[in-house]
Amino acid sequence: MKKLFTLSIAMMLIAAVVAGCAAPANESAPVVEAEAVEVSEEKVEDPGMVNLYTDRHYDTDAELYAQFTEETGIEVNVIKGKGDELIERLTREDVDTEADLLITADAGRLFRAKDAGLLQTVESEVVNGNVPSNLRDKDNEWIGLTVRGRVLVYAKDRVTPDMLSTYEALTGPEWDGKVLVRASSNIYNQSLLASFIEVNGEEAAKEWAAGLVNNMAREPQGNDRAQATAVVAGEGDVAIMNTYYIGKMLNSENPEEVTVAENVGIFFPNQDTTGTHINVSGAGLAKHSKNKENAVKLIEFLTSEKAQGTFSSANYEYPVNANVEPSELLKSWGEFKAQDINLSVLGENNLRAVEIFNEVNWQ
Ligand code: FE
Repeated sequence: MKKLFTLSIAMMLIAAVVAGCAAPANESAPVVEAEAVEVSEEKVEDPGMVNLYTDRHYDTDAELYAQFTEETGIEVNVIKGKGDELIERLTREDVDTEADLLITADAGRLFRAKDAGLLQTVESEVVNGNVPSNLRDKDNEWIGLTVRGRVLVYAKDRVTPDMLSTYEALTGPEWDGKVLVRASSNIYNQSLLASFIEVNGEEAAKEWAAGLVNNMAREPQGNDRAQATAVVAGEGDVAIMNTYYIGKMLNSENPEEVTVAENVGIFFPNQDTTGTHINVSGAGLAKHSKNKENAVKLIEFLTSEKAQGTFSSANYEYPVNANVEPSELLKSWGEFKAQDINLSVLGENNLRAVEIFNEVNWQ
């Protein structure tokens, strides 16, 4: 099979080169995208292999899987895609799926997979010891692997930390027209509001959402990074965004992103009250896994002290394993108190959160 792929790529290349030569001089040669061939989609023969559907794409992850293989002899076959697409694929494949594990971001999205009947319980004392219960599904159908905070990011030249306190305070008159946040269709915002429903009740959550819409600097647009960019551009003074994007921007190859990240401060809200909202990237055990035992071994490995530092810092995230320290960059942001809730409720409250967003007209 592999040979066949290689051969057809070679033939495509030759065809492309010939076509390029035949083209008039003012036309540029066609771009050949060899990486479009998805070698990872090959069917699996080895019954011991763990097939992993993941939306992560870090070199360090591949190194960890290699280390896992070296220690256990169990191969890991990585199939990459976007979180929601992988969930759709699992649904489509149903009992015929090759997938053993699904790794994706946000407890709200992991709940979707659970709710669609795509997952099953992970039974492992090792995993239960590695990961605190609030970062695991109530039925252990998904397990948190890394933690991110959804924090306030402010313009260093216009805002000082003493002006900030809580998510709720952003609805006050002093922030009128100054708050930046992305659209309500985004799962991170849905999970944020779902957490407020849990800790403050529905009514207070709706009041907050309405108040924030009132104080928005502009109609929600762009991703989390775009909110930081808009802060530095002066469109607003404070944004709501996930912690790891600041790490990504600070280490970006794009100098403009680095400048943006250097000109904003990170503030962990609600430290004297309900805590900062956190979420996870996590792994769900596929309902129709043909390799449950080995898949669970991989979760045990990824949540172990040995793997957690590398696995979490690849995306500038916090480890779930309390015995592992966050990276130096994350430590430089300081320690913080997180919301004390089981992240399963983010999924359970998702529908109500979406309704509230619609009711208050959060675009
Ligand atoms: Fe993200």
